[in-house]
Amino acid sequence: MTNANLTAGPIQRVSMVSTGSVSIHPEHVAATRKPLYWWLFTSRRWTAPLPINVYVVEHREGLVLFDTGQDRASVTDPGYFPGGITGVMYDRLARFEIAPEQTLTARLAAIGHDIRDVRIAVLSHLHQDHIGGLRELAHAEIVVSGREWDSLAEPLPELRGLLRSHIDVPGLRWRRVDHEPLADPSIAPFASGHDLFGDGSLVLLPTPGHTPGSLSMLVRGPGRAPLLMVGDVTYDTRLLEAGHVPGVGDKGELADTTRLINELRTRHPGLAVLAAHDPGAASALTSGRRWSVDNGAHASG
Ligand SMILES: [Zn+2]
Repeated sequence: MTNANLTAGPIQRVSMVSTGSVSIHPEHVAATRKPLYWWLFTSRRWTAPLPINVYVVEHREGLVLFDTGQDRASVTDPGYFPGGITGVMYDRLARFEIAPEQTLTARLAAIGHDIRDVRIAVLSHLHQDHIGGLRELAHAEIVVSGREWDSLAEPLPELRGLLRSHIDVPGLRWRRVDHEPLADPSIAPFASGHDLFGDGSLVLLPTPGHTPGSLSMLVRGPGRAPLLMVGDVTYDTRLLEAGHVPGVGDKGELADTTRLINELRTRHPGLAVLAAHDPGAASALTSGRRWSVDNGAHASG
């Protein structure tokens, strides 16, 4: 494949960076019969450290991020998390390791991007490990689903994983998107979504379940296998392919979303599902007719 083929569409390159690592409980990765509050407070098992992926899309209209990682302040600032039983819950939910060189700004710089060049950051949802870079993105437009944004105003956001003071940061430019019917048969079985630039290359799709307003981003271009960035719909795409849902979220909605994504995969052989914490995402991004490699080098086709 020639360079001309690689750059024929509006997207030049897709890369991935990770803002540190996170360990969670195995019961979080794959649903069990144990109720959430049982395993959350009793499980002694933790996964190996998982990445906290931020996807970086070089689009003709500007640099687009999908998710923004975990804030390093969460491991350096004792006041980052709420106190009391809510704080204990956060402590039991996930353990982070974030080195000084693993901030969003530093990770982007390592692959040759100035964070000031980010035009849009799309958030899969508003949990801590997806909104952590917001303070570094005051110049960008922050895109979130309207349903997810509205959930901030519902009772007890902190118990639902929403740290309002780290989300509704003064000075940010938010754009809420509401999925509209899309007459695009190529996104079936999805029937609604939001075409970010109106060119079909980046289409946001409603994928509720992990949270009510979770969204995914379909990335497409000529000569390349499509990508579907799914946030926390799954922590392991092999489990998603087997129809197995995670242990956090609305299981019915997660099952419906998982079915839709698997049907989309069937209709688009080669489609790579890229989860936020899947250690396999880096190789999924670079294998076959993909877009790039995570160290910033161009794919060879
Ligand atoms: Zn989440």
